[in-house]
Amino acid sequence: MQRVGVYPGTFDPVHNGHIDIIQRAARLVDRLIIAVAINEDKGPLFSLDERTEMLLNETGRLGGKGMAKIEILPFKNLVTQFAHENGATVIFRGLRGVADFDYEFQMAGMNARLNETVETLFLMAEANHQALASKLIREIARLGGEVAGFTTPDVAAKLKQKFKR
Ligand code: ADP
Repeated sequence: MQRVGVYPGTFDPVHNGHIDIIQRAARLVDRLIIAVAINEDKGPLFSLDERTEMLLNETGRLGGKGMAKIEILPFKNLVTQFAHENGATVIFRGLRGVADFDYEFQMAGMNARLNETVETLFLMAEANHQALASKLIREIARLGGEVAGFTTPDVAAKLKQKFKR
């Protein structure tokens, strides 16, 4: 039986913390769906197409023996419903620290009530990637700071382009 996992998020934009979690999750399932939240009401910096394209580009470099086949799909409904529709039995979430824990704990509990056949699995990135957050990276880029250590050169270039004055 093929094990399918979903890794949902906004990925606005994808950074080294996300890539770290993607690599870990890809070792645990056969097919990994990165579910990109449309989140129009959140007013993302990058459009759904831009976020998807960056993810495609970055995940295209991953892969190898024992790694899942990675797909990128948009989603706007409930994550448990999305998981069910795509035959997934695992939802991957990354944990950065206690700040994430409260919200994630509640979310996992509610999701379990919505669909008890889908398990939420929490993964931690390596120490160097744990503090990374898209929101902070966007803010640094907006203020003209260097984001090269936080994301890939391609994404850093896209951020620079967005905030070009
Ligand atoms: P962000 O909070 O960076 O905007 P997303 O909303 O796109 O990220 O989050 C998608 C998933 O990735 C969530 O489960 C989030 O907890 C996880 N994640 C984000 N950054 C990190 C990180 N530095 N380490 C581990 N997990 C992370």
